Amino acid sequence: MNILIIGAPGSGKGTMSEKIVANYKLLHVSTGDMLRAAIKEESPVGLEAQSYMNAGKLVPDDVINKLIKERLNKDDALNGFLMDGFPRNLAQVKSFEAILNELGKKIDLVLNLEIDDLILEKRITGRRICPECGAIYHIETKKPKVDGICDNTGATLIQRKDDTVESLKTRLETYHTLTKPIIEYYKNLGILRNINADQTTDKVFEAIQKELKELI
Ligand code: AMP
Repeated sequence: MNILIIGAPGSGKGTMSEKIVANYKLLHVSTGDMLRAAIKEESPVGLEAQSYMNAGKLVPDDVINKLIKERLNKDDALNGFLMDGFPRNLAQVKSFEAILNELGKKIDLVLNLEIDDLILEKRITGRRICPECGAIYHIETKKPKVDGICDNTGATLIQRKDDTVESLKTRLETYHTLTKPIIEYYKNLGILRNINADQTTDKVFEAIQKELKELI
């Protein structure tokens, strides 16, 4: 089972991905997490990606396509993956198809998290993440057990550099102009499922599970 999860920044892709991979034993491939790890390591990819990410802009396609190709070539991707944050424009959709063809894989389902832009600012500015494991929290709606500390690793939670009101504006513009067209593309393939993401985490996950049950 190979699945894509798409949605605006703050729609809950990361949170839902955590739940899906824990329940369905899929490999979680998050381009955002991979890039944040590359920045932390100060690798050439990280150094190139950093300024784009902080400004809320897309990292160049060739950098991302290479990351994806290398990641999906590894053995742990054989039993299915959940792709989170890729593809983000139509050019990436085409590159992705070429990569999947080469590997003899296909996408079975695309989950589209639908939510109004107006709700996203509060979600994004209150989000905190663990710099060690990437776990996602929120200062009001998903508090850790100890204030400011990750439940899994004990590390001090941080705010993503691009989780600011200013960067969100650019990210939303990018989402509407570049990423939204891919929804139409997957809809035409008949594999798109819309999920109402403006509900509690449990309700959103329930809706996702319903779709996955049909697939299995
Ligand atoms: P995310 O964690 O998915 O919100 O991604 C954070 C940032 O990483 C984005 O705002 C982009 O700067 C970059 N990024 C993640 N995935 C991609 C992608 N598929 N193409 C280009 N840039 C990406």
